[in-house]
Amino acid sequence: MSAPSGAAARRAIAPVICYPVETLPAPDMPMLDAARATLIKTGEVIVPPRDAATFTVPAGHFFRITSVEGSQVGDLNLWNAIDLSERFYSGKTRALHGTHITRGQRMWSSFPALRPMATLTYDSLEWYGKDEFGGSVHDVIGTRCDPYTHNLLSGGQYHYCCHSNLTRALAEHLNIPRIEAETHIHDVLNVFMCTGFTRDTGQYFMKASPVRVGDTLEFFAEIDLLGALSACPGGDCSTVHSSDHAKCHPLLVEIFKPAPDTLAKWTPPQPNGYSRQHGD
Ligand SMILES: [Zn+2]
Repeated sequence: MSAPSGAAARRAIAPVICYPVETLPAPDMPMLDAARATLIKTGEVIVPPRDAATFTVPAGHFFRITSVEGSQVGDLNLWNAIDLSERFYSGKTRALHGTHITRGQRMWSSFPALRPMATLTYDSLEWYGKDEFGGSVHDVIGTRCDPYTHNLLSGGQYHYCCHSNLTRALAEHLNIPRIEAETHIHDVLNVFMCTGFTRDTGQYFMKASPVRVGDTLEFFAEIDLLGALSACPGGDCSTVHSSDHAKCHPLLVEIFKPAPDTLAKWTPPQPNGYSRQHGD
């Protein structure tokens, strides 16, 4: 189909940012930095390779995800620990902050709460920025690897995709059937994963993660959190996922408590103020 006359002019229209973030409630990073200086570790969980584990973080505490034995990507789900219907909203986080998130940005929750669940307070890979392919780290574009897409594209039954790992871990934590736990699994924050969209076809791509042993992503829990983290079967995601071919490593999750006086000015975020009437 040939382009209409004036096509160039239509294409030349400058874009407008959908959601300017100037009015978005911003975290008090100096306060959080002061709190970070007082952290005392209260617990840890090791996430085995090609598996997932759950953890809880009280509001006002911090948690860290660290690569401990080799380059490894993690798929993170977060819920309000006392109401699992409030959970991480990857799509809205992407609309607000862009395709990848780092220090100073937040993981937002689903409607109707739509509030910050966690604020990123430290990212040892912040230096990576955007590479020449348009790739960056910690994406909110890649949903999670799952056995359904794998079956669609390749056939077969693979049971250790992040979707299934998260399902098993949540089922065990809540002591409910896997089929019920599966309904709570949602699109993830791809921790340490290096991804982007190809410029020519706009396709989702991954490449070897720059994460190395000791790299850490740290979060401040704005509300009481239940988390589940899967150590992706893609390993560093340099080649394939949804199979046992890639070399995989564990991930470490640690929980920290700050000195309470450092958070004296902090107010936990309230659920969104919209009336939910959807009309007059
Ligand atoms: Zn995965």
